[in-house]
Amino acid sequence: MTDILIAGAGPVGLTLALALHRRGIEARVLEKREGLSTASRASTFHPPTLEALDEVGVFAGLRRSGVQVDRILWRRVDSGDFASSAAPQAATLDLGILRDETRFPFRWHREQHYLTPALLGALPPETVRFSAGVAALHQDDAGVTVTCDDGSMHRARWLIGCDGSSGAVRGLAGIAAETSDYAHRVLRLLTPLDLRAHVEGLDGLGYLYDAGGSCSLLRMPEVWRLIFRIAPETPDDAALAEDHARARIRRFLPHLADMPISGRDVYGVRKAMAAAYRAGRVLLAGDAAHLTNTRGGMNMNAGVHDAMTLAATLRRVLDGGGDALLDGWARARLDTVRGALLPRTDARVAADPGGEVARMAAMTPDQARAWAREASMLDIAKAGAP
Ligand SMILES: Cc1cc2nc3c(=O)[nH]c(=O)nc-3n(C[C@H](O)[C@H](O)[C@H](O)COP(=O)(O)OP(=O)(O)OC[C@H]3O[C@@H](n4cnc5c(N)ncnc54)[C@H](O)[C@@H]3O)c2cc1C
Repeated sequence: MTDILIAGAGPVGLTLALALHRRGIEARVLEKREGLSTASRASTFHPPTLEALDEVGVFAGLRRSGVQVDRILWRRVDSGDFASSAAPQAATLDLGILRDETRFPFRWHREQHYLTPALLGALPPETVRFSAGVAALHQDDAGVTVTCDDGSMHRARWLIGCDGSSGAVRGLAGIAAETSDYAHRVLRLLTPLDLRAHVEGLDGLGYLYDAGGSCSLLRMPEVWRLIFRIAPETPDDAALAEDHARARIRRFLPHLADMPISGRDVYGVRKAMAAAYRAGRVLLAGDAAHLTNTRGGMNMNAGVHDAMTLAATLRRVLDGGGDALLDGWARARLDTVRGALLPRTDARVAADPGGEVARMAAMTPDQARAWAREASMLDIAKAGAP
C-alpha cells in the first residue's frame, strides 16, 4: 500500500508530491489527462510560494526564465498627464519593504505551465500515472481504495484531492461546496510592446484607473498582459472584437491605442469553498478546496501553501503524531480561505476605482508594509503548518 495517493498533476498536486518526496514519503499521482496541462492560467508567484518552490528545489532552475517584479504602480488616468510620475494621483510600492521578512521580497511572473514540468522532472520516474482519472473511491479504517477510469485500482493510507475545481474527489468524498460566479468576466489582451518604455514608473505590475474602472498591466517574459473587466451583458465575441479591444486600450493608454495585439481571450471567474478540507482519509488541497477571482493572483499560491503545510503535517502523522493533526491542519486552512483568501480577493474586486490610487498614495510606511504582507500572503501561507 502506498502512503499517499494524490489525484491531479496540476501545480498543487505536483508540489505536494515533491514536498512529500523530499520528506521521505512515498506518493503516487493519478492524473486524468494524457499529459500536463498547457493552459494559460496563473502568472503570479508571491514570496512565500517562491520560498516553497525553493525549499522543494525547483525555483533556482526557473528563476531566470521569469520576470522579477520589484515595484507596483497605481495611477489615475483621468487626472492629468498619466504618463508622468509627478502626477498627483499616482502611487508606487516597493516590495523591497518586505526584505526583513522573506528571502524573496518581490513577485515573480511566469506561466504556471512552466512550473509543472519542473516539478514533474524533479520527481522520481513513474510517480505520475497519466490517463488515470479518479472515478470511484472507498474508505475503510486502514486506507482508501481508488478506481480510475482506465480500470486501474490503487490503495493508500490517505488520498489527497488536488484535482481542481471540476475534479471528482470532493464529491466522491461527500464534501459539499458553496459556489457562485463573480458578475463580470475578464478580457485579456497580450502585447509584445514593452510597456515600461511608455508608462513612467511602471516596473512589472501596474493598475490604471479612471472613475469607472481599471486596467491591469502585467509583465510576462515575452509579452505584457492587459486585463479588463467585461460587463455580464457583453457577449464574448463582442468583447473580443477588434473595435472593442482598441476602445478599451484607448481609454487607459490613449497614446498606445495602436499597439500590436498578439493574443486575446475572455474568461469567467468563479468563487467556491469546500465545506471541509477533510472527510476521513480523504483530504483536499488547491482549487479542489477553494476558487477565487484572479485579481491579486492568490488562488494557486494558496494551493501551493495548502500543499506545503499538508506535507509537513503528514510527515508528523506518519511519524506517529496522531491523525488529529490533520484535523488541525484542515481547520486552519479552511479558516484561512474563509477569513482571508476569499474576503481579501473580494475586497480587491470591489475596490472603488476612483479612490484606490489616493488610498495607496496616502499610506504610511507601516501601512504600506502591512498591505504588502497581506498582498504577498506572508501572513497566511504557513497557517496549518505543524
Ligand atoms: C486566467 C487565469 C489566471 C490565473 N492567475 C492566477 C495567478 O496569477 N495567481 C494564482 O495564484 N492563481 C491564478 N489562477 C488560478 C490558478 O490557475 C489555479 O488556482 C491553479 O491552477 C490551481 O492548481 P490545482 O493544481 O489546484 O488545480 P488544476 O491546475 O486545475 O489541476 C488539477 C489537475 O487535476 C486533474 N484532474 C481533474 N479531474 C481529475 C480526476 N478525476 N482524477 C485525476 N485527475 C484529475 C486535471 O486534469 C488537472 O491536471 C488563475 C486562473 C486562471 C483561469
